[in-house]
Amino acid sequence: MPEPATQLDANSLVRARSSVGDFALTVCTDGTYLLDGGAMFGVVPKTLWQKRIPANADNQILLGLNSAVVRTGRHTVVIETGVGNKQTPKMREIFRNQELLLQSYAAAGVDPAEVDIVINTHLHFDHCGWNTTLHADGSVTPTFPNARYFAHAGEVAHGHLQLDRDRVSYLSPNYDPLIESGQMTLLELAGVGATAEICPGISVELFPGHTAQMMAVHIVPPRPAESRPAGSSPAPHACYVGDLLPTAHHLDPTWVMGYDLDPLRCIEERKRLYARAVPQQWLLLFPHDHDTPTARIALNDKGKPGVRTPF
Ligand SMILES: [Zn+2]
Repeated sequence: MPEPATQLDANSLVRARSSVGDFALTVCTDGTYLLDGGAMFGVVPKTLWQKRIPANADNQILLGLNSAVVRTGRHTVVIETGVGNKQTPKMREIFRNQELLLQSYAAAGVDPAEVDIVINTHLHFDHCGWNTTLHADGSVTPTFPNARYFAHAGEVAHGHLQLDRDRVSYLSPNYDPLIESGQMTLLELAGVGATAEICPGISVELFPGHTAQMMAVHIVPPRPAESRPAGSSPAPHACYVGDLLPTAHHLDPTWVMGYDLDPLRCIEERKRLYARAVPQQWLLLFPHDHDTPTARIALNDKGKPGVRTPF
């Protein structure tokens, strides 16, 4: 299998560029990292998943850390902030992560100071790591000084419980300083499918399963009714799906992760997503697929979803 790059070249630092209606979408990256292939595919036999994604001698697979940047014309929105720079040397040795997000933003022409909204789908360390930056003197400061951060209140509460099952996934310096300073808004939407608008054209929706309050992010530029051609194709719609679908290799509804807290719920939530994403041709954004960070999907003749076009 390809070993993780210690440095990505300038082209590789920007994973995708696209437009969603009037909005400009760029997928940046914090680099790659390695996770256990078995944990990433739950009860799926290795004989099946390794045909799609090869494992190294330690049974790890190479994953990406995608951070989406959406320019709406009025706002610059970041969705997810990678692993960050707070890993212990021991964890960095295991994950082989590279802390490239700020270089990736620079390559894409994104200044962290221009970002005014940051959204975390959930608060696992590999989704909110660069919310804050750890400095040599031990202090932690917001990476996006002018941004309002959004996360779900239930995620913070769960992280603070420090449960045996998943305490390693929740690093409070990624969010507690922002809550204490008032820079992070804690959302309280409740119930499957509940939504909240973050700014015009950007909203979040609860898709529980991976965690109890994981949110996907919808990117749907508002269109005035008069500009909508009659009988036209569906409105442009992109969706950052969070760990509901970590990679394009997880599209089979039953290929859920060992990490998922409620795998049965994940299966139902994936079907609920596909019921809209397939007919409406949504562009899906995957958090951990380095090679296929975005895709539109279609169902094959057996009704199984697969990548239709990777952009
Ligand atoms: Zn997660």
